[in-house]
Amino acid sequence: MVYLDHAATTPARPEVIEAMLPYFSERFGNPSSLYALAREAKGAVEEVRGKVAAAIGATPAEIYFTSGGTEADNWAIKGVAAANRKKGDHIVTSSIEHHAVLHSCGALEKQGYRVTYLPVDEFGRVEPERVAEAITEKTILVSVMAANNEVGTIQPIAAIAKIAHDRGVPFHTDAVQAIGAVPIDVNTMGLDLLSLSAHKFGGPKGIGALYVRKGARIGTFMDGGGQERGRRAGTENVPGIVGLGRAIELATADIEGHNRRLAAMRDRLIQGILDTIPASRLNGHPTERLANNVNVAFRYIEGESILLMLDALGIAASTGSACTSASLEPSHVLTSCGLPPEHAHGSLRLTFGDVNTEADVDYVLSVLPGVIERLRKMSPLTPDRYE
Ligand code: PLP
Repeated sequence: MVYLDHAATTPARPEVIEAMLPYFSERFGNPSSLYALAREAKGAVEEVRGKVAAAIGATPAEIYFTSGGTEADNWAIKGVAAANRKKGDHIVTSSIEHHAVLHSCGALEKQGYRVTYLPVDEFGRVEPERVAEAITEKTILVSVMAANNEVGTIQPIAAIAKIAHDRGVPFHTDAVQAIGAVPIDVNTMGLDLLSLSAHKFGGPKGIGALYVRKGARIGTFMDGGGQERGRRAGTENVPGIVGLGRAIELATADIEGHNRRLAAMRDRLIQGILDTIPASRLNGHPTERLANNVNVAFRYIEGESILLMLDALGIAASTGSACTSASLEPSHVLTSCGLPPEHAHGSLRLTFGDVNTEADVDYVLSVLPGVIERLRKMSPLTPDRYE
C-alpha cells in the first residue's frame, strides 16, 4: 500500500510504541495513588508535560493533557467563552477551521454568543487586517488555525495574534496540523492557547494537549477527581501521554530537514500532475503550504470515485478531511477559497509522511493520469474538448 493520507493520521513510530508499552503492563499505576508504582506513572506524566512545553516554548504548568485535538479545540473555545461571558459575547474565527472549532462556535451561537467567520483569499489565507476589522469591544477570543488540514495553507498567526493582543483579546490557534511541520514558539508568536494532537505526528490516537498561557481566563473542562490541576479531571491516559512525549520529541527534532525531504516529493508530485493532467489546478497556497500537502482539483469528475479507483490500485488518499468523508457536501474549505462546488467535488488530497519515498511519487504519477482519464470518459459532465 502507498499511504498518502498523513493529514488524516500517521502511523505511530516504533520508538513511540516501545516507550508506551511498559505503561500498559509493569508500570500500570494510577498517577493519583500514593505508592511507588503510582509515583513512577506520575513522574512519567510530568516528564512529558515538560517535553511538550519545551517543544512549543511554554512552561510545564501551561500544558494540559486532553483526549486529542477535538477536545483541546472544544475546551479552548467553550472554556474561554464561559470564563469571559461577563466581559463579552463575540468570537472571531475563520471560515476554514476544522469542524472541532466551527461546531464549537456553532454550539456557542445557540447559547447566544456571536461569531464572525472570516473569509479567506483564493489560497486559503486569512488576511490579518480582516481580523482587526472584525474585533469589537465585545470580542473575547480570536481563533485561527496555524495550518489547514485540507489544503495545507499556513496562516500568518504571529501577525494575527499581534492584532488580537493590541486590542486586548486572547488568541487561540489549532496547531494540530502544524506540530512537527511549522516551528512554534508561543512567546515569540504571541499565542495564548494552542491545541495539538499526537496522532498527527507519529504518536498514538486519543491523546493531545491544550496549552493555556499563565493567567489566561478559561473555565474548567471536565469536573471530577481534580486531575490536571483541577481543570480537566479524569485518570490520565498514561501510555498515551508517554507516546505523545516521545512523538513530539522526535517530530520537532529536525523540522527543517523533515520538511526539505517531504517538500521535494510534494513539489515533484504537484508539477507532475499539473503537467500531465489537463483541467487540473492546485488548491491552497503555492508556497505558504505544509511541506507534505498536495491538494488538486480535477474538473468534470467526483473526488470519491478517484479515491475508489486509487484504493483499488493500493493508494490511500482523501478528498477532504477524514472526519467528513461520509458527507456528500463539498468541502467548506474549498468553497471558502472560492472554488465552485462542481470543482470542489473533484478534489484529491495526498499528504506525505516519513514512510513515503520518491518511488511513491513515481507510482502515483504512473497511474493517476489514467484514472482521471477513465473517469472523465464515464462522466456526463465532461465536454468534448477541454484543457
Ligand atoms: N484540528 C485539525 C486541524 C485537524 O486536522 C484535526 C484532525 O483531523 C483535529 C483538529 C481533530 O483532532 P483529533 O483527531 O485529535 O480529535
